[in-house]
Amino acid sequence: DRTESQMLIIFGASGDLTARKLIPALYNLHCGGHLPKNFLVLGVSRSPLSDKDFRNKVALESSYLEDENQKGNSDHLSNFSEKLFYHDIGNSYEDSYESLAERVKGLNSEFKTAYNFIFYLSTPPNIYEVIAKNLSEQGLTQQKKGWKRMIVEKPFGYDLASAKELNNSLHKYFNEEQIFRIDHYLGKETVQNLLVTRFANSIFEPLWNRNYIQHVEITNAESVGVEKRGGYYDSSGALRDMFQNHLLQIVSLVVMEPPIGAKAEEIRNEKVKALKSLRILTDHKSLNENTIRGQYLSADINGDKVKGYREEDGVNPDSTTETYVAIKFFVDNWRWKDVPFYVRTAKRMPTKVTEIVIHFKPPHHRIFTDSGMFNKDNKLIIRIQPDEGILIKFGVKVPGQGFKVERANLDFYYDSLAETNLMAAYERLLLDAMQGDATLYARADEVEAAWEFVDPILNFWKTSKDSMIYGYSAGVWGPQNADDLLEGDNTWRNPGSN
Ligand code: NAP
Repeated sequence: DRTESQMLIIFGASGDLTARKLIPALYNLHCGGHLPKNFLVLGVSRSPLSDKDFRNKVALESSYLEDENQKGNSDHLSNFSEKLFYHDIGNSYEDSYESLAERVKGLNSEFKTAYNFIFYLSTPPNIYEVIAKNLSEQGLTQQKKGWKRMIVEKPFGYDLASAKELNNSLHKYFNEEQIFRIDHYLGKETVQNLLVTRFANSIFEPLWNRNYIQHVEITNAESVGVEKRGGYYDSSGALRDMFQNHLLQIVSLVVMEPPIGAKAEEIRNEKVKALKSLRILTDHKSLNENTIRGQYLSADINGDKVKGYREEDGVNPDSTTETYVAIKFFVDNWRWKDVPFYVRTAKRMPTKVTEIVIHFKPPHHRIFTDSGMFNKDNKLIIRIQPDEGILIKFGVKVPGQGFKVERANLDFYYDSLAETNLMAAYERLLLDAMQGDATLYARADEVEAAWEFVDPILNFWKTSKDSMIYGYSAGVWGPQNADDLLEGDNTWRNPGSN
């Protein structure tokens, strides 16, 4: 087993992410026998909780007790619960680290975790630096005895300048190799499968270029609105919250050149190169023409009245924060010259879906004029969620006289491979970090390259009088103007509707 004895120390442990994602992921790893024998979790935050309170709190708030597969397995539950501890850091995250250091050292000796520590920062990012600094001052980051790693949650910055500042401040106390920036999209099976589809097969990669691909479309749609996160969302928006991180990560996997191997640095080097080859929209005209943003408006959806974005709790009634963004851009390299990429993400769409659509060029010479339902181009659709899988759309002959062509599908669904449920993204990523594998984590230069692309758009939206924000009714596929982004007679593929 590659997972060594270790302690996971979670800062912000009283929060939502810990209860909703981290503890359930750890519990599943525990039930699957993936945690090392010598392992414990130490939750740290300001809330005054005892170990017992913390165990009860996460048990109540976590979804793991509801998991049908694990229900009634009280052994698993009590064994897991005994691995959870809590430390109250006092009134702020500024001091009181001596007592934390004592606690960590005590637990380390008691549970033989070999001074291998992962610090998971699940607090607001403005206190990441002070936590890192204090850990360092207490000698908890020293790697003489045991290794030390740090996992940081998004957002990695608010713009390019703040991302650089955050990277610089973490680098004062941790080497880049020790820092694991989590992007849960990379933990999704289908996102990883993109690498396998491209580089473990010989039938796709020869076509994966400007000679055969007409355009690439990536959609991330959520059917929900901002829910309870109105306050946070209003200071962020779709471009920062989804596009800069998750969607540009997916773009980099579609765009990248074949890496020389599958090691973390080999893959991440190519991803950085890919991100650096995106043509940055700089001038007023290209920014105006190639970026569309919108906000959802109230609507009746199946008899339910749904609030508009500006009416949501925590949202400024005059807010100009976007809940929809669609961007057209090009990739300036040999492989992708002149191939448009269309990428969009939004809330309050008709359905929840994330997919990549590779649109291939039509045949050079058409000999069958009666193409019927077949929509000209071959498509490769990589579905990231839900119903993870891959679909190829191609033309087949309709039986009977003549050469009528219709569309047919070749499909593969991930469930058909997985004997049990697919490992959830946080499970996979946590286990990788526990084993020191950073392949699916974002490196500092990747994050900065993504911000380089996004920064001018943010500035344009903030400063230009011409930059419009369009309304769209909740439950439709965004503002109509987004259709004008697509070249020629192309249209967005709206899953479920075309
Ligand atoms: P949360 O519920 O607000 O929890 C954060 C915890 O940090 C709080 O319980 C709080 O604990 C502590 N904290 C320290 N300083 C704070 C401050 N100034 N304001 C509020 N809380 C403070 O947040 P979360 O949803 O768990 O998210 C944690 C991190 O993960 C954030 O960086 C967030 O952006 C990121 N993230 C969350 C999700 C998600 O699904 N929730 C998804 C992606 C990324 P004490 O008061 O007890 O100290």
